[in-house]
Amino acid sequence: MKTAPRYGRSNFALPGRGRWLSLFFAMTLMTVAARGDEPYARSKDYDLQHSKIALKFDVEQKKIIGDVTHTLTTLRDNTNKLAFDSVGLAIQSVTVNKTAAKFETTATQLIVPLASVAKKGDKFEVEIKYEGKPSKGTYFILPDQDYPQQPKEIWTQGESEDTRYYLPTYDYPNDRLTTETVLTVPAAWLTVANGKLIGVKDAGNGLKTWTWQESLPSSTYLITVVAGEFEEVRDSWRGKPVTYYAPKGRGDRLKINYSRTPQMLELFSKKLGVDYPWEKYAQSMVDDFVAGGMENSSATTNASSSLVNPLLAPEYATGQDPLISHELGHQWFGDLVTCKDWGNIWLNEGFATFMETLWSENYFPKEQSEYERWSSVREWFEQANLWAKPIVRHDFDDSSEFDGNAYGKGGLVLYMLRHQLGDDAFYRGLKHYLEVNRGKNVVTADLAKAIEEETHTNLDQFFSQWVYGAGAPKFDLSYSYDDTKHQVMLKVKQAQKIEGRVGLFHIPTDVEITTAAGAKEYPITVSKAEEAFSFPADSAPAMVLFDKGGHILKSAEFHKEKKEWLYQLKNASEIADRADAAQALAKLKEDTEVDAALGDTLRNDKAWGVRVTAADALGERKSPAGAKLLLEGLNSATEPWVRNRIVAALGNFKDSPEIAAKLDSVAKDDKSYRARAAALLALGKIKAPNALATLNAAVAGDSPDNFLRNAALRAMGPLGDDRAVSTLREWIAAGKPIDTRRAAISSLARLKKDDQEITQQIAGLLNDAHFQLRFGAIFALGERGDVSAVPALESLLKSNDLSIEMVPMIRAQIARLKRGPGKKPEAGETNEAGEAGGDEAVATRLDRLEKMIQEMNQRLKNIDERLPKH
Ligand SMILES: [Zn+2]
Repeated sequence: MKTAPRYGRSNFALPGRGRWLSLFFAMTLMTVAARGDEPYARSKDYDLQHSKIALKFDVEQKKIIGDVTHTLTTLRDNTNKLAFDSVGLAIQSVTVNKTAAKFETTATQLIVPLASVAKKGDKFEVEIKYEGKPSKGTYFILPDQDYPQQPKEIWTQGESEDTRYYLPTYDYPNDRLTTETVLTVPAAWLTVANGKLIGVKDAGNGLKTWTWQESLPSSTYLITVVAGEFEEVRDSWRGKPVTYYAPKGRGDRLKINYSRTPQMLELFSKKLGVDYPWEKYAQSMVDDFVAGGMENSSATTNASSSLVNPLLAPEYATGQDPLISHELGHQWFGDLVTCKDWGNIWLNEGFATFMETLWSENYFPKEQSEYERWSSVREWFEQANLWAKPIVRHDFDDSSEFDGNAYGKGGLVLYMLRHQLGDDAFYRGLKHYLEVNRGKNVVTADLAKAIEEETHTNLDQFFSQWVYGAGAPKFDLSYSYDDTKHQVMLKVKQAQKIEGRVGLFHIPTDVEITTAAGAKEYPITVSKAEEAFSFPADSAPAMVLFDKGGHILKSAEFHKEKKEWLYQLKNASEIADRADAAQALAKLKEDTEVDAALGDTLRNDKAWGVRVTAADALGERKSPAGAKLLLEGLNSATEPWVRNRIVAALGNFKDSPEIAAKLDSVAKDDKSYRARAAALLALGKIKAPNALATLNAAVAGDSPDNFLRNAALRAMGPLGDDRAVSTLREWIAAGKPIDTRRAAISSLARLKKDDQEITQQIAGLLNDAHFQLRFGAIFALGERGDVSAVPALESLLKSNDLSIEMVPMIRAQIARLKRGPGKKPEAGETNEAGEAGGDEAVATRLDRLEKMIQEMNQRLKNIDERLPKH
């Protein structure tokens, strides 16, 4: 599934960015009372082969009426009972081979004693009739008095262990079954389920019955049901149906955001050498989804926030492709071949992340994927909580396994594996892996073995350090030139602390040395704590690059002189090396030559990722010359995803009337909505003297999907002007758009801090039906610093529908309130993004997160909790 964004920081800016899930978003849906996900696969008593799942709905009551028939075979002699996972369902009757059977239920299971002891290989047909109002697993999104226009939607979300909340079944990935799904719904509704549509029949009473059949086996967490007032667009790929669904009224947003799907199907089928295996591919976009996207077999569900307004969609460099390619990639990695246990979830998520890269590098200009990779590496290092954990781990009691190692690091590890093996061997290895494991459940050793079988390359060390080991190399690099020997001596230190699962890394890489005579590349392999390599060079080098192009997940402190960084910024052929130079130069303060070089890069580099990195650097340097260069850069920048970043960099310059005036004019009428939104935020951040008038005007005005209003509301908190309180309270009210309410919460929390009535208003949202608002309220209260909110947060901790991810977040906010303002978190305490950091870093990440939520409607970190109401 997809949780978060992986684009560089800047890219998070808005609706439409699809990174669903990144790490931040991992979602596990376990209840506190229950426990985290089961880390190891279960030993099985039976093999579930087929389920016929018939569901009816009492929509107003948010109730499901189910009748499921399981076909299964026992796997052991002396089997005297069959147990199914089942939570909160009222079981009405059970038959075994058409004979009424006794049964008992516990909090988590339906147990069916067998009339006589079964042998290994005995076949059973077990029919279960039941009803329930699921607290998770199935969600009813309905109109209410505050939101009368809401289209009616019912959708399910099984991963990780929530199918059992609406279907008594074997609910762990290590089993696979085919399904027939029979859905009886109001005649005007559409439905989507796994597999092929067999037919739609009139069912009387204004109802219709839809029958779907999936003939390829997959795991129960990949079962899906979507039903409701939807609009459909039909497309196809090699004769298979490719369909897209939007909630009623938003069908016109499908094509602009989703129409590249068939091209992706073609690319992935060709590159992998294994054709897309399912009989159709549907993508259903639903409201209030609990994730960014979920790869149910043949029928992905995505958050409706991916239906970006057609006026905003062109402002995103890659549109919704990261989300779409991620979920599509799962159809091979996750669905056709499935992790055996949650400890190996990276075999799903790391691959899906890698498939985003595959699409990006094949469809967009080369600079796009290169910049994404450079940003992903930095993003991973920013998440300090990931450092000590290996990718494959089974100790996730108190933190989700759907973390930045499974996603970001997993994707980078596969990228490195390809880089090391070469394209041909790598894809041959993957093809073999998919072919031998097709329709099976796998652990990491199966991947290593398949690639080795195909390529005859032993990957034990690679997997040992990158997948079973933790951390990454932190290089300390320096070189000297000996002009008598005509030699460059490069010193390489691995400076990471060797402890726990973090060791020394053994890595082949390339060093490039550029002299007046040209550039030359040398392959080396690093493996020691400290070592030195010498290379011939006719003269002192102008540039020495280690890991040219940035292919390794690493950090590097390369001790170079200013002139070398300047040369590298201008002349390095690869994006990563130029971006590295821009970052290194950002630290050489008060140097007009550096300012000028960064300004030149901002205007002239051919890669937009390097240009925005230069903009960030100029913003960080805060020099008067840099401010001017940013203003000039803004004049020439055309792409919205560059303009918004330059504008954001201008938000670092306080007390400059010229910049405040420019931001004001951009906020009022730039051709890019993203730039205007960034300008509104920057005006708040610099506390520009007349900012409130501009923000108020933006709140009052209209823009596509409230885009500018939301930005203006978000800017009011940083502005710190208490006169904004009444506006914020107005927009936080029930009936206003959810994302607008969300935007207003954190700003309101920062104003009139001694007004307990505001604290109470925000605390009132802790129990709101919309998870985004609950989530926003939790962090807003921590930010507000009013200890009177502690009891409300503590009582929220006691509610039993919280996800495992939610609990530490609430606890962290309580600790923050008790600690008082301005104190740093203790070691181990993390902020919203699961990362430790200072206020500024926290603010940046909150901002990023906030946007993600806004954009994706995803339930971050398992925020699946929904109140009974929704
Ligand atoms: Zn995923």
